[in-house]
Amino acid sequence: MRNKIIRGIPASPGIIITKAALYEEEKFFVPIRESKGKAYEISKFELAQQKTKEEILVIQQDFLKKTDASRARILEAQFLVLEDKTLIDGTIDLIKKGDTAEVALEQTTSKILSRLNKIEDEYLKARISDIKDVTDRLMRNLTYKPKKNTIMQTKHSIIAEELTPSEIASLSDNVIAIATDLGGENSHTAIMARAIGIPAVMGLKDATKLVNINDTVIIDGNQGVLIIDPDEATLRTYDKKIKRFQQYGKELKNLISLPAETLDGNSIDISCNIDVMEEVDLAIQNNSAGVGLLRTEFLYLTSKKIPNENEQYKIYNYIAEKIYPNSVVIRTLDIGGDKLTADLKFTESNPFLGCRGIRYSLTNKKLFIAQIKAILRASKKGNVRILLPMVSEVKELILAKFYIEIAKTELKNEKIAYDSNIGVGVMIEVPAAAIIARPLAQEADFLSIGSNDLFQYTLACDRTNPKVNCSYNPLQPAVFQLIKSTIEQAHKARKWVSCCGELAAEPIAIPILIGMGIDVLSVAPIRLLEVKKIVRSLSMKEAKEIATKALEIETITEMETFINEVIIKIPAIKEILKERGGTA
Ligand code: PEP
Ligand code: MG
Repeated sequence: MRNKIIRGIPASPGIIITKAALYEEEKFFVPIRESKGKAYEISKFELAQQKTKEEILVIQQDFLKKTDASRARILEAQFLVLEDKTLIDGTIDLIKKGDTAEVALEQTTSKILSRLNKIEDEYLKARISDIKDVTDRLMRNLTYKPKKNTIMQTKHSIIAEELTPSEIASLSDNVIAIATDLGGENSHTAIMARAIGIPAVMGLKDATKLVNINDTVIIDGNQGVLIIDPDEATLRTYDKKIKRFQQYGKELKNLISLPAETLDGNSIDISCNIDVMEEVDLAIQNNSAGVGLLRTEFLYLTSKKIPNENEQYKIYNYIAEKIYPNSVVIRTLDIGGDKLTADLKFTESNPFLGCRGIRYSLTNKKLFIAQIKAILRASKKGNVRILLPMVSEVKELILAKFYIEIAKTELKNEKIAYDSNIGVGVMIEVPAAAIIARPLAQEADFLSIGSNDLFQYTLACDRTNPKVNCSYNPLQPAVFQLIKSTIEQAHKARKWVSCCGELAAEPIAIPILIGMGIDVLSVAPIRLLEVKKIVRSLSMKEAKEIATKALEIETITEMETFINEVIIKIPAIKEILKERGGTA
């Protein structure tokens, strides 16, 4: 059917018209069948092993064309897995006992993986993804399941049921827009799409069923719309929209050199959140006040191996040097939730409520101290701060500070320079942390409100689930009360407080945050100029009045009326929402 329009959630701005490719997770079902005899099953397995070897060789050669030899050597590990005695002999032994090749492989693989999952050694754990890659490939070749991902040599969009943050990070340069059945605006996948600057629409429910490979699609990340096989009139309309959006981007650039201050001269720091290295340049180009949040977990998600102290130091130092004299807030590892590595994926039934953020770091002390040492080494010029994620009790902060002291002592003994007065801040993203903001603010040097998780945990509303995304909107009175008391407690303790969740870039929330006294808004670099435009269009007096009224509101319905009658009447907000395809 021509011109099929599907509405979803606008997840990353921009509009693209391209051909579509499908991106599907390879799911395997081990066939239930009788063994056809040992000889047959063994030769079937050996054939699959040979085919897998040939495939990895082709991938390695292709990879070599794109990268240097040392990086292509990563794939050597896969050949080793393919020759591994425990895997191969274990599978053949089970075949000899009467299993089919597929069942034997499945059982041997899960035994190896569950053993590795129990091992503490981080390096060995990191091998799990190699093993899974190879055994999945082996199983596909055993079951003759064709690979479904379409690889196109030209620029295209991909339509997927769901993408993980690491899948987004490793997309080919030819992928210029994405549309997914699942996922929400504040999921890490959406944050990654914004970070790499490609338009995205999520929560489309059944886009993968409706789009065929090579269909022309329009992905409108501003309005959250996917149009399949657009007709001529729609294409003309969208050509105009693309030109207008480009013009809007150019106009925003006029704000780069202007100060981020309100009409009555109160300056607000607008910093950037960094998820991928490419964003550092954009932050600098947009004249960012610094890096308000460096999400270090993405170093782990995009690399096959856990980066060691030195590798991390080089990255942190590179960013700290580039941003100097402005400051960089480096958040310690927040692995867990929807930011999972292949190894962690299988170990917890509810990762959002599991060993996430600071809990993970405090139970993996070697890893934590290595990261802290890397951060400390990058702090020698005095422009780096440490931020601790997912803190829910004061004890965690005290313990983390104790490990920071251990890391300092080790560096002192190694005669390596660092900033001995480095600031340590706490993320306020669990309701418990907002409730105990007073002692946290007394113990920490600054607070940073992670509104993405604060919404999720306050409202019991999964940030990645489009079905509950309706209650995940920026107007929730309960969340604003928690933010208000966090800001008050930080200021009482004479500490500064930032907001680094997506709320900081949400036009209708900005006057309320400013009016409540937020000191720093930390946003994705592509949002910085829009935020500055709103800050410059408000007076502090007006923002305070808006915040006071907003905080008296107790229901979402009243809040919606207030937003419609007051906030979106502010010209800068009205204009931005219109450009983003919002309600104004
Ligand atoms: C947040 O929760 O708002 C936040 C900034 O952390 P993340 O999005 O990385 O979970
Ligand atoms: Mg968070």
